[in-house]
Amino acid sequence: MSIKIPRHLLAELITHAMEDDPNECCGLLLGKGDEADELHRMPNVARKPISRYTMQPGELVEAQEKAKKSGREFIAIYHSHTFTQGYPSQTDIKNAVEVASISTRHVIVSLVEKTRPVVRAFSINGESEVTELVIETDGEPYRASD
Ligand SMILES: [Zn+2]
Repeated sequence: MSIKIPRHLLAELITHAMEDDPNECCGLLLGKGDEADELHRMPNVARKPISRYTMQPGELVEAQEKAKKSGREFIAIYHSHTFTQGYPSQTDIKNAVEVASISTRHVIVSLVEKTRPVVRAFSINGESEVTELVIETDGEPYRASD
């Protein structure tokens, strides 16, 4: 399984993560099928944004309606990890199960190494099963570790 995220959106994602560092950032990738074509920033309204992210339900609904109007959908939900690796935490998995009706794909930007942000994508289904997705960028697999 894969998710397509063009290079300029990956760059926007990393910029958002760096701007909000040390707090976690969050947002949505909009597009069609498994291909993202727009990044939509969402405010992180968590009480402890340094280690959690929460999107306001009202704003999520608004974003969903806006996407629908342009014939698109949520391709993935993204957030950043500012102190840990880019793998879903237990909290992330729990939250993912709750929002599985919105999107089962999650993109995580890790800023553990500030000079080398790492972006990874996962599918988390209603049974809490985590599968890593290949990120395709402009027709090629994206490898943050290269
Ligand atoms: Zn997380």
